[in-house]
Amino acid sequence: MKEFHNILKYAKPYTKSLIFAFLCLALTSLINLVLPLIVRNMINAVVVLKNHEVLDGLAWDLIIIIGFQAAFAVTHNYIFGFVGHRMTTDFRIEFFSHIQSLSLRFFQERRVGEILSRMSNDISVIQNALVSIPVALLRQSITLLGALAIILHLNWKLTGLILLILPPLMIFARVFGRRLKVFSEKLQDQLAQAVVVLEEVMSSIKIVKSFTREPYERDRFQEKIETAFERAVDKLKISAFFGPFILGLTFLVSALLIWYGGYQVMHGATTPGELAAFFLYALIIAGPIGTFVRLYTQIQEARDAIQRVYEILDTQPIIQNPENPVPLENITGSIQFENVSFGYQDTGVIHDVSFDVLPGQTVALVGPSGAGKSTIIKLLLRFFDPNSGTIRLDGHDIRTLDRKSFLSQIGLVPQETLLFGGTVRENILYGKLDATEAELEEAAQKANAHEFITNMEKGYDTIVGEKGTKLSGGERQRIAIARAILKDPKILVLDEATSSLDNRSESLIKEGLETLMAHRTTFIVAHRLSTIHKADQIIVLDKGCIVETGQHENLMNNKGLYHTLYTMKMLDPTVHEGSGL
Ligand code: ADP
Repeated sequence: MKEFHNILKYAKPYTKSLIFAFLCLALTSLINLVLPLIVRNMINAVVVLKNHEVLDGLAWDLIIIIGFQAAFAVTHNYIFGFVGHRMTTDFRIEFFSHIQSLSLRFFQERRVGEILSRMSNDISVIQNALVSIPVALLRQSITLLGALAIILHLNWKLTGLILLILPPLMIFARVFGRRLKVFSEKLQDQLAQAVVVLEEVMSSIKIVKSFTREPYERDRFQEKIETAFERAVDKLKISAFFGPFILGLTFLVSALLIWYGGYQVMHGATTPGELAAFFLYALIIAGPIGTFVRLYTQIQEARDAIQRVYEILDTQPIIQNPENPVPLENITGSIQFENVSFGYQDTGVIHDVSFDVLPGQTVALVGPSGAGKSTIIKLLLRFFDPNSGTIRLDGHDIRTLDRKSFLSQIGLVPQETLLFGGTVRENILYGKLDATEAELEEAAQKANAHEFITNMEKGYDTIVGEKGTKLSGGERQRIAIARAILKDPKILVLDEATSSLDNRSESLIKEGLETLMAHRTTFIVAHRLSTIHKADQIIVLDKGCIVETGQHENLMNNKGLYHTLYTMKMLDPTVHEGSGL
């Protein structure tokens, strides 16, 4: 029940509407109970009283009551449906915000498809349950208890007969319900696995196509979805049997009732109208029993879905804001790493790294692939916190700073510039959502992007394809630079692209970068010699340790790893000095 308690908080704002809806629902169910009594009187009016007027009057009553019942039913259907949709919408928004707040570690451990499936499938299951379970519970409870009370009053002997048959039926239904649950779990799991394949293919469609691996992926998907089919059939074997079985039982019980009740009518122990009414009540009672079984499985399914969703909602963002965050104002932009060590899992990736960066300096991180350059950047951006040691900004341990105001001081120009599928304008504005048109254009100009943007037919309103596919690599980078210029951070992080661009693109980007880097503390994961030459500090990393630091000349004189990397051109195999940079 804890699971449902969690969900109920989403219903709170709608308490009044829900109470009204439940009232309508109760009235609908009560009217259901009265109807057979009217039918009883009608039949008796025909068979026993043989009176037209009584019959006509009862017919009118019936019409009016059914009219009311319909009105109540429409009302509660609408309100429950509406509130259900509203609650799931609120729930989805919270789920989305929560996902965004989680640490990168979380995303590393989960597959995107799995999260998508929780967002869509599980939350839909919950929505269904939210609406149908309470409605059915109330309606069927009223119906079952009310009908039982009435028939006990009408004819206790016949009622006894029914009560004899009920308990075994309930037990049987429970057993069935359990098995159904197991099968639906398996089905859901399997479907989620198929969705994962779809998601993976969609996000890597270029790779799939370039390797012409469509048949391979199709087979992979087919394997998953065919297994899902088998699970669905397993489930079907039970559920298909269940309905007809209950129906058959219902007829059997009905026949028994007519047989026994017929004897009672013939012996004058009851009237034909009463037998008919009794019969209708018996049918009414059969309904809830079937529904309770269905409800039982639905509740199980909903509970599991809620558990799966809460497993994510209960995951705490690992990197949380400190309790009394230090506000940041007018920082100079000095950075210190003090004995920082870190590992993604058990093995260490960064070992006891210390260095000082003065405000406005440019630092190049250099080293073979896997040396830990990107990891240092991730620590600086607080995507992860160090296992030991401290990172300071202007002397403050960055863990004590307000996360948002801290990150607002840092601008990132990543290697693979991901652009959102909106317009060029929206992509640049991502750096500063409330920037004016003039600020926007100025930033684009400084980034050498204004010209190519205005040359496009729709200018700043050009829609960039998904992940920016309509723009060239160089153009995407310049948009990223414009975005960072607009953000105007004190600290800049550049992850240089390894792929070489043509000379013109290179020099356009270089100019843009120089404007961007002026007066900012800059970290560069460096591949280009030109940037490295100019750096105030080169930090040479190997296997997570700093092996050398200094400027180009003295590092060359050291004849250490830097010298080796440089002379073997492993810093960047494609771009040379004097190549136009
Ligand atoms: P570089 O940027 O110098 O190429 P990285 O910082 O990306 O190096 O990687 C340093 C080490 O950390 C490598 O051994 C890499 O395999 C490992 N690593 C990087 N990212 C992750 C991650 N998200 N999870 C686990 N290990 C990682």
